[in-house]
Amino acid sequence: MTEITERLAEIVERVARATTRAGRDANDVTIIAVSKEQPAAAIAAAYAAGVHHFGENFIGQLQANKTRLVAEHFAWVHTVDRARIAERLNEQRPQHAAPLNVLIQVNQSGDAQRGGAAPDEVAALASVIGALPRLRLCGLMTVPPPHGAPERWFAELKDLRARLRAAGIALDALSMGMSADFEAAIAAGASMIRVGTAIFGNRGA
Ligand SMILES: *Cc1c(COP(=O)(O)O)cnc(C)c1O
Repeated sequence: MTEITERLAEIVERVARATTRAGRDANDVTIIAVSKEQPAAAIAAAYAAGVHHFGENFIGQLQANKTRLVAEHFAWVHTVDRARIAERLNEQRPQHAAPLNVLIQVNQSGDAQRGGAAPDEVAALASVIGALPRLRLCGLMTVPPPHGAPERWFAELKDLRARLRAAGIALDALSMGMSADFEAAIAAGASMIRVGTAIFGNRGA
């Protein structure tokens, strides 16, 4: 488990350097340790080493039959991509809990295999979410297509946020960047990076 502590220290250092290069403050970037498929001991080690944000992942899109689990146990959801999912999360969020923070996942490449709302559907979905009292719309999330340079997609997500803001939609967070490309994402304005293997090593190992 000391490996996790060492890898995490290296990630924190790389995030600090990337924010400095971008003229940004390291505190403006939240590192989310993506702990899917990792043993509990690895998650405990990361927690002990100072990570307090963990990301879990449901295979593929968030399915309607999984929303209750998410509404009851999580503080944030980065993968809201359709009105039906937003409405279910809103209904299922327990009254004693704070509103659920949500990001709209954007499918930038139009690949039908992937989750996410099309860029031109985001404004309408944002207005649906804005009317749901148990949800708090915080920003946008992307997973760029696996091949090719991610910079273009990061820049486009930031542009989309700017256009939506200009249309009066309050959006702050940009969740983008994973183990292989979080420095490029920070350069492009990411406020949340989702780092799995670079902290924990291979999944299911
Ligand atoms: C698994 C996963 C990650 C982490 O990917 P790594 O390459 O291991 O850093 C980030 N975001 C999402 C949505 C994921 O499913």
